[in-house]
Amino acid sequence: MQECKFCCKSVEQLKISHIIPKFFSDWLKKGSTLKRMRSTTSPQPVQDGYKIEFMCGECEVDFSKYEKYCAEKVFRPLINGISFIDIFKNVDFNIFNKFLASLLWRVSMNGLNNPQINGNYSEDEKVLFNEYTKKLKDSYNNSSSIDFNTYLIPLTEELANKNILEVVDYVYYERSISMNFVIFDNFDGQASILIKLPFLLIVCEFISSKKDHWKGFKIDNKRFEFSDSYNIPQYIHEYMKQDCQLGYNMINNLSDYQLKELIKKAQSKMQESDDTFSSIKKNIINNIK
Ligand SMILES: [Zn+2]
Repeated sequence: MQECKFCCKSVEQLKISHIIPKFFSDWLKKGSTLKRMRSTTSPQPVQDGYKIEFMCGECEVDFSKYEKYCAEKVFRPLINGISFIDIFKNVDFNIFNKFLASLLWRVSMNGLNNPQINGNYSEDEKVLFNEYTKKLKDSYNNSSSIDFNTYLIPLTEELANKNILEVVDYVYYERSISMNFVIFDNFDGQASILIKLPFLLIVCEFISSKKDHWKGFKIDNKRFEFSDSYNIPQYIHEYMKQDCQLGYNMINNLSDYQLKELIKKAQSKMQESDDTFSSIKKNIINNIK
């Protein structure tokens, strides 16, 4: 018997769960030139996004209701260029909050307790952050607001044109997925879950710093809080620089032969309608790299 990581019931066989909902990786794969994905941890193509034995079938089905809502009401309009404020005018707070709590819980639970991901956390930190992770589960189960400062940063041309972010790279913004739980010892000890999706960065701070004067789109006390101006703390800029670079390191780690083959394949298959092509074109137009 195996225990579901979420509801803790024992089941015969756990489902192979996606930590990041599958519709994000499906969308990336569909719009890519070579119709496959690569992971930043290995240069091998990844067929289907990161997944592991994690939850029971019942919990999977429960989570998927909120994923479907979010795919249709948030992600679709976002990739179609609708402005963030207009999107969230039509989003039900409680449903989105459930989606967010489930997503943050999955990333945190996996990041803190998966021995294959070595985060170098101390035992005390693991205990504390697992308690916080349980609070995310409680928010989901009780449909209550997430207890931690949580921000959404749209990675779109609209925001890039306002010169708010130090990293402007449309291939990174639009064509990458990553997830992390990071303790920023080199800053003010902020401890954050960071989920990079196409066109969106989600930040949930288990530990915030009073010195950071965050301004932006915040999930707060049962509502979405909009701000006309943005102020993104420096630790987020530095994180994005590293995360963006990881994607390029992967290309740099390929052998000359692998790289030549990859370029040959891409050149023969790339079409103007590919989303990959569109992101590269935006980088070229904006003189990036
Ligand atoms: Zn379960």
